[in-house]
Amino acid sequence: MRNIYLYKIKADLEKYNLDWKMSPPPEGAVMDPIIEMKKRKNICFTCFEDPYLSVNCELLPCGRQKIYGGVDATVGFEKAWNHTKLLEFRKNMLEGKYPPLCSQLCYLKERQGLVE
Ligand code: SF4
Repeated sequence: MRNIYLYKIKADLEKYNLDWKMSPPPEGAVMDPIIEMKKRKNICFTCFEDPYLSVNCELLPCGRQKIYGGVDATVGFEKAWNHTKLLEFRKNMLEGKYPPLCSQLCYLKERQGLVE
């Protein structure tokens, strides 16, 4: 199945005459490149670069980890981001350990021993 969004991005790059190269090009990608990266490399970068703030002012590793829970963000972003719980989540991700939800929702391989 081809990803129509990648073709839309390519069309926009041409429309705005941007000299950007897509890698992989839309013709070579059969799915979302981020999902492909998760499947092939077995790692997710969302928890490193795309934190999620809930309506309850909790900072979560990502928008899908409400079950895992977050930390109180009213202490400020830097303190919340560096909270032991989130540091451990990111460290575990680098070691290939993550909650089952990551495999269930995001194609990471089977859970490898993270204690919940
Ligand atoms: S559920 Fe896990 S793999 Fe999916 S975006 Fe969140 S941290 Fe990443």
